[in-house]
Amino acid sequence: MSLVDNLVSANESYSSSLSDSEKSLPLPPGKKYAVVTCMDARLHPAKALGINLGDAHIIRNAGGSAQDALRSLTISQQLLGTEVVVVVKHTDCGMLTFTNADIKAVIARNLGEDAAHESEGADYLPFPELEDAVREDVQFLKSSPLVCDKAKQSVSGFVYEVETGRVRRVV
Ligand SMILES: [Zn+2]
Repeated sequence: MSLVDNLVSANESYSSSLSDSEKSLPLPPGKKYAVVTCMDARLHPAKALGINLGDAHIIRNAGGSAQDALRSLTISQQLLGTEVVVVVKHTDCGMLTFTNADIKAVIARNLGEDAAHESEGADYLPFPELEDAVREDVQFLKSSPLVCDKAKQSVSGFVYEVETGRVRRVV
């Protein structure tokens, strides 16, 4: 079976496992919070943090970047009523392993001149130190005029340890 066939087949059993209440959940997250975390394949935020269907927005991107997540967070807060943000980065994150210059060199080599030109001014938001990056993202959210006051007051930052499955609070 192909990758896509496998996904579709897994979805058949998932959809038949959903209860009526799960199928009729309202659009706004019931617990009014958003989690910003990394796209890393080893993270399962819903399981790791006990997030049930309909509870929260889980916004994922490379590195769990608050800056990258701001568009989604604004929609989450202004249109869908979330009031709390939790930032969760993790140990052994890929974002600790390269610089903007590194990825731009890879882009130029793999994709050629047009792509190199296109990525010239881009910031891929890598970070050299994990806990500093958590603190910086929390500070970014606290100082953004696009983040609501309640979220500014309550924003917290965590590190998830891929080695243990545990989270520890940084901010
Ligand atoms: Zn990561």
